[in-house]
Amino acid sequence: MAEILVYVLHNEGTLNRNSLGAVSEAAKLASELGTTADAVVVGGSDLTDDLLGTLGSYGAGRVFRAAGPEGLAQPVVDVMAKVIDEHGHGYAIFGGGLLGFEIGAGLAARKQAGVTMEVTGVSVEDGKLVAERPILGDSQISRSKYRGDLGIIIGRINAFEVRESGSGPAEVVDVEIEYSPWSTKATMVQRGEQRGADVNIEDAKILVAGGRGLGKAEGFELAEALANALGGAVAATRAVVDAGWYPYAAQIGQTGKTVSPKLYLAAGISGAIQHKVGMQSSENIVAINKDANAPIFEFSDLGIVGDLNKILPRLTEAVKAKKGS
Ligand SMILES: Cc1cc2nc3c(=O)[nH]c(=O)nc-3n(C[C@H](O)[C@H](O)[C@H](O)COP(=O)(O)OP(=O)(O)OC[C@H]3O[C@@H](n4cnc5c(N)ncnc54)[C@H](O)[C@@H]3O)c2cc1C
Repeated sequence: MAEILVYVLHNEGTLNRNSLGAVSEAAKLASELGTTADAVVVGGSDLTDDLLGTLGSYGAGRVFRAAGPEGLAQPVVDVMAKVIDEHGHGYAIFGGGLLGFEIGAGLAARKQAGVTMEVTGVSVEDGKLVAERPILGDSQISRSKYRGDLGIIIGRINAFEVRESGSGPAEVVDVEIEYSPWSTKATMVQRGEQRGADVNIEDAKILVAGGRGLGKAEGFELAEALANALGGAVAATRAVVDAGWYPYAAQIGQTGKTVSPKLYLAAGISGAIQHKVGMQSSENIVAINKDANAPIFEFSDLGIVGDLNKILPRLTEAVKAKKGS
């Protein structure tokens, strides 16, 4: 039975949490298939045996380690293609994110494999993996089965839960690789965290949360101004995080954080169930939405029907005036 290979992203000696979710998911699926899950990493001297061994506690049997540039897609495609050619893995799983999409697509082209992106669930049917992906604005689920020797599954960010299985350290296997000429053309200029990644929204007593109703990334300036005036922090829905308007660290909901501040002020948020589960235990929920029928009003303590572009600045001014700042 063909094994599952998972790419694990890392930065400065820390393994990416989203990748750990993918390893956990692969290990769970592998045990249902009666096979094993392995991980693959590309990088430098910070990839110590001790660090990579910890992947065993998420269910990885072996970790294939190749020396090379981390954070670039093509070198990883080279390494994964080699490992798959030599060891016969039948599936490759990625935690998601732009890099995962790029590597997964490159690997699919290289290996003539089927690929499914934005996957939110994977199941085993008749000894094979079936990937589920929401479509048509998340209103329907499409299911993909794979033909051929390799199936590629790229998750939505944080779709796969991190689970520690308590197994012992993974075996580290070094891979000798000669990179394709085109794989070494790009170089990493700088890596860093997105704006706002250090905000600890779980501890904030007041949260001003922004959704797609803010219109564009710059719309978050309205939410930030009000949060500053109130002495709170800014949170976001998945829709705006996926659109790149605000960092994932601020995402509330099923695939983000769960919060229970004293005040949760939702601006331009429809109130989807996946968002609600992350904020419904807030003490006071205030919603601003131009649609009087928006679901968020069903679980708000105070609802304001109107245009947030007019209401947020006035609210900010009123709070500043009250505080005398
Ligand atoms: C497996 C899975 C996991 C998910 N996990 C999460 C999660 O963790 N967190 C999450 O948030 N979502 C999650 N989602 C997505 C969720 O289903 C919704 O798509 C998302 O929450 C919608 O975000 P939104 O409210 O910003 O956008 P929309 O649903 O597009 O709502 C925008 C709202 O803004 C209002 N609006 C527009 N313009 C204005 C204006 N000028 N003034 C006032 N109001 C205005 C509109 O009336 C509308 O109600 C998940 C989905 C799936 C399938």
